[in-house]
Amino acid sequence: MRALPIRYVEPVYRPPSEAWSLIFQVTLGCSHLKTRRDPSSPTGYRVQSGCAFCVAYQTKPFRARPEAEVLAEIDAAAAALGGRVERVFLADGDALVLSTNRLLRILERLCARFPRLQRVTCYASPQNLLGKTVDELRRLREAGLTMIYVGIESGDDEVLRRIDKGATAAQMIEACGRAKAAGLAQSLTVILGLAGPDPERSRRHAEATGRVLDAIAPEYAAALTLMLEERVPSFAEQAGDPAWRELTPVEALREIHWLLSVIRADGIEFRSNHASNWLALKGRLQGDRERLLRQIDAALRDPRLLRPEFLRAL
Ligand code: SF4
Repeated sequence: MRALPIRYVEPVYRPPSEAWSLIFQVTLGCSHLKTRRDPSSPTGYRVQSGCAFCVAYQTKPFRARPEAEVLAEIDAAAAALGGRVERVFLADGDALVLSTNRLLRILERLCARFPRLQRVTCYASPQNLLGKTVDELRRLREAGLTMIYVGIESGDDEVLRRIDKGATAAQMIEACGRAKAAGLAQSLTVILGLAGPDPERSRRHAEATGRVLDAIAPEYAAALTLMLEERVPSFAEQAGDPAWRELTPVEALREIHWLLSVIRADGIEFRSNHASNWLALKGRLQGDRERLLRQIDAALRDPRLLRPEFLRAL
């Protein structure tokens, strides 16, 4: 069997739904994350700025890969895989940070080399989207970009500031509104537990997050539960909240109940089947909303319905 002619710079991350996609790294790392070496940190690096919960690219400083190198890799992969490729994911953490013209050239090459290509997706940050006009995003859509994955994390401005997300709730809505106007499908991720266990803050985070999802009304929305383990102290320090801790299952279920309760938009495919969650929910809003809420209530009454702790993972 011939080796794939793509040299990946590890670690490589992709959304679970891109498991069957061919991945091209057009950037390395994430443009929002700044780190420095720190031997006292478990990873050997410490976040200087960037999302406080994120370790994804701590050991890989951000850079755009040379365009010629990416295009040559596409050519080589096409020669090796012929017409078999139907899905492509552009990595790393926020490929949409590249200029529109460079992305257009990459999309053009992908379409030319992979005649059966049906979808091209990538991660995008709110900042990436706000750096582009609707017209630019529309041109990317017309050139073959079909869907973007955006980490919303929270709709609560205080939480967003504490985790250094780099965007407010209003900016998230504006950014994703541009993508929607351009015809790009969107898969959004939110994180339970970011506000910690304080009931008032937890509820504010959950409801504000639900309101942002409601305003954006994406095609897909998924909830993860924050799992930091040994990084709890450094997260609490960066978030400026010494009392911060991870949620218990009951606290996480309450958050997801609050979040779902405020969403009124129709047509969102909602999931909490990520391995970090204690309860796997799957349904289409609004039709399945009452069933999802009943599932949460049942799990609150009967902990045997929860995923065992040893099966939870990031
Ligand atoms: S934008 Fe995404 S990859 Fe970048 S620091 Fe935040 S969570 Fe991590």
